[in-house]
Amino acid sequence: MVPGKSQIPIPNLANQTFYLMQCRCSLKKLMDKLKITPTGIQVNRDESFMTITWNDDHKSKYSFSLLRHACPCAECRGHENMGPLPDPGVFDRPSEDSPRTHLTDVEAVGSYAITIYWGDGHQYGIYNWNYLRALCPCDVCRGI
Ligand SMILES: [Zn+2]
Ligand SMILES: [Zn+2]
Repeated sequence: MVPGKSQIPIPNLANQTFYLMQCRCSLKKLMDKLKITPTGIQVNRDESFMTITWNDDHKSKYSFSLLRHACPCAECRGHENMGPLPDPGVFDRPSEDSPRTHLTDVEAVGSYAITIYWGDGHQYGIYNWNYLRALCPCDVCRGI
């Protein structure tokens, strides 16, 4: 584990982090149980990343490129891949800098998700909290 990235200050969450690293299926069940939601979402357009702070004090930093690669809409994923969690392949795709990956706006969808508007006019992906947390590219969440 990388110091500083693995600190989860809520004591009873420490054991459950084990499951976060072991199996992405139990991640969904765990999140349903813990009701993990963002406490803050910041977009940094100059450096092309979005940061989400979660109510367990975890911080996720996503490049715009990763968010676009992981767009959860049916058009991007294909109907056969419409699972509740991101396709693991999105983490391996090369970073892209084009209108497709320029985030122009973020809008809340109820209290459970956000929609991201992209520079090429794409805006169909609904990124719910579970999906976004599973998309966290940090070493702890990726089990690296
Ligand atoms: Zn899409
Ligand atoms: Zn993480």
